[in-house]
Order: sequence, then C-alpha cells, then structure tokens
Amino acid sequence: MCGPRGPFDFWFLPPFLQRILSLATRVVLANSESGIIMAVRFTSALAALLVLVAGSVHGGEFQSAAAMRVFTPDPLLPVSGGVGEPNPVTKKLGELTARAMAFSDGQTTIAVVGLDALGFPSVLGDRVRKMVPRLPGENILIGASHTHSAPDCYGFPLPSGGFTGDLDYMNRVCEKTAEAINEAIDKLQPATLKISSDKAAERIAYNYYAPQLYDRRMAVIQTLASDGKVIGTLVNYAIHPEVLGSDVGVISPDCIGPMCDQIEERLGGIAVFINGAQGGMVTADNRDFAQPGDPVKGVSKDSRSWDECLRIGHLMASEAERIITKAAVQQQPAVLNTTRRVEFPVDSPLMRAIIAGSPLNYPHTDDFKITVQINLLTLGDAQILTIPGEALPNIGFYLKRKMKGKHNLLFGLTNDAFGYILTKVDFDSFERYSYVSRTSLGEMTGEILIENALQMIEAAGK
Ligand SMILES: [Zn+2]
Repeated sequence: MCGPRGPFDFWFLPPFLQRILSLATRVVLANSESGIIMAVRFTSALAALLVLVAGSVHGGEFQSAAAMRVFTPDPLLPVSGGVGEPNPVTKKLGELTARAMAFSDGQTTIAVVGLDALGFPSVLGDRVRKMVPRLPGENILIGASHTHSAPDCYGFPLPSGGFTGDLDYMNRVCEKTAEAINEAIDKLQPATLKISSDKAAERIAYNYYAPQLYDRRMAVIQTLASDGKVIGTLVNYAIHPEVLGSDVGVISPDCIGPMCDQIEERLGGIAVFINGAQGGMVTADNRDFAQPGDPVKGVSKDSRSWDECLRIGHLMASEAERIITKAAVQQQPAVLNTTRRVEFPVDSPLMRAIIAGSPLNYPHTDDFKITVQINLLTLGDAQILTIPGEALPNIGFYLKRKMKGKHNLLFGLTNDAFGYILTKVDFDSFERYSYVSRTSLGEMTGEILIENALQMIEAAGK
C-alpha cells in the first residue's frame, strides 16, 4: 500500500515488528563492508526470530467486547430442575440473561456466551450459531449456568405423551443469545487481557456426596479497553446453582445473578459466568448447620433463600475481584481455536428416550450416537477446554493437570448438556452414583471425552 516491497520488506508482520526489522536491516547493511554476507547471516537470525515471535503475534491487534440480553419470560413459565414435570412459579428473583464476550486477535474471533438455563443442548446452540453467520459455528461457545430455577430448554418427553418446556420460549432464548453475541462482535474494540486463577474461599461450593472432593479453583478472564475501563469479566467456577432449587415457586438465575450484579457494580463492564466440572455432586454450599442434619450420612439441611443466593453470589464476586486484580496485563495475546466433533454412544435408556422423544429433534444416528463440538482454546497464557455436560470433579482435575496453559480452564455444560460424565471406573459404582450413572450417556462417556481431550491438548502443543 505504501510503495514497492523490497527484499527486506516485512509486510507480513505486525506494524511494530516491521518498523524494528527494517531499521535493523538498514543499520546492518550500512555498517558492513561485506553487506551481502551480513545480510545472509541476518536473514538466518531473522528467520529464527520469526519462529520465536510467531506464537506471540499470531494475529493483529487484540480486541474484545461484551453484551448482555435479558430473556426472563413474561408471563412467567414453570421451572425445571431435571427430567419430569416442571414446577409452577409465582415470582421472579433476578433476571434470566445471556451474557457474551468476544475475543479477537485479528485472525481468530471467538464468542463465549453464558446463559441462565439448566442445560442448553446443541440442537438449540446450532440455532444460535445460524443467527451469527459472521463467525464459523465452531468459534461460538455456549455454556449453560445450570440454574435449577429456569424454564426447561430440553423438551423432555412426559409419560402423558406431551413434553416439558415451551418451544416459543426456547426460540426466544436462542434469539436473545444470538443478539448478545452479535452485539459483542459489532462492538469489538482494542483491548488488553488479564487472566488468573486461585483457590476461592470456603462456603461457596462443596461436594454433596463427599464434602471435601471438589475443585476450589476459580479462574477469571477480564478484558480492558484502551482507557483502562473493564469491558467484561468472565468467572469460571464449578458449582450447581441450586440454592433455591426448582420447587420454591421462583424463577431465578440463583446465586449467579447476584454474582454478576456485584461484579458489574464494582468493576464495570459485563460479567459472564461459565460453569466447570461440577458433576456428582458439586453444589452450592448453602448448608445450614444451625438446623439438625443427619450426622451419620453427613447431610445437612439447606438454606434455600434469596439471602443465601446473595451471600454466595457476592462471595463469588469478591473472590473473582481479588483473583483478577493481581493478574498481569497481556498486551497482544493470541486467540487460537481447535475444534473436534466427537461422537458419543447413547447407552442409557433414559437418555435414549429423551433424545428420541423430544420435539427438538436431536440429531442422532440409527444406533443412537450423538455428535458434540469440543473446543480447545488458547487465550493468551491460558488454555480452555469445553466439556459437553457435567463432568465429575476427578475428571476435571485430571484434564486441568494435562492441559498446557499457565491457567487451565474447563468450560462445563458448554456446547451441549447431556447429563453427567463419569469415568468407566466410577460408572455405576457407589450406590451414591446410581443417579448420576443413570443420567449419563453411558459407561464410556468419560473415557471418550478424556481420550479426545488429551489428543487435542497434545496436538495444540505448548
Ligand atoms: Zn446437575
């Protein structure tokens, strides 16, 4: 664009590197008696340098944006905590939302959206992707918060012959989610990135089956505009947002709503929540030790109030703020995406009945295999792996240990949400696991996920 390209024109590099290298070339040639030999040596050194910098200058300028849409139904609809008849509600506490963040390095653009639903199956995710034609479908990651106080998005078949959920509502959730993603893409602006992770405080989550067996780590991704203002803050943490649950007559994002509200109030920008490996059974720690429990089983009564949602949500927000405040600013982070479409057999009779009987027409083969999108992202110094359901925490620990980022994040219930994911060893083992085994695709689900994830991690390199 600005004159002919000579042998030392570095047009293929970002502008700041072009300037440095052109200047260095001129200095070398001007000061050398045998400029040609020096030029050859310099070119070799340059080639080595290019290999070194290639990772850090994958694309151009880093950009980010965030956007949010509310999709709370009006009039209110019944809410669902799983298979079976949804429960009627009389009021709402907080709003149900889709919260999107977009990240781009000029070459790859990724949209991540978290929405308030128990699960958001791929058949709906693909509807959203169709409404965002500017991005390849594999660059759109859709995660469900797993609130147990939102209307159904599965369309579970009922013994009566009908099905759960409201198809118009599901369409509206898809439209609002696509709107949030499209707005985030429209608003992409020059940005910097911060990512950090740390153990979060006690009394947020615990494992209902075995109190100590859960991942205390919270990871936070934040982008900042050129003026230093927060664009978006994404919190990644494993928890069942079921403080209220589905049978108290309330529609709500549960503790995730207050978490987002406090982050936005204190830090600015838009807050996004993406769950982690929260299966079997990492839940909100709303244990009320003042009430008599069952000491033999180690089970306590729960406090299922909005005040408890506020306590847990606000604690999550203040922990996210603590964790991200100390993070270093990454100026030109790379955005890389690898995607696999992985086939899972559906062996569970319950899951087969849902897939075959839902009005959403879940795509599946004649011998009941479904195909799921799994993403492995590199975002600056972090790696992010998506999990298409509720992986048990031991699978989460193992995958994070094998991943190669400085910070390793698992986006659970992302891109699909068909039940629990156990290793074949855990499957149908403890009596405690009979529910999570029944509501899993099958014995090999965890093994297939782990095998594919390890291959993707290996292929992505360091
Ligand atoms: Zn669950």
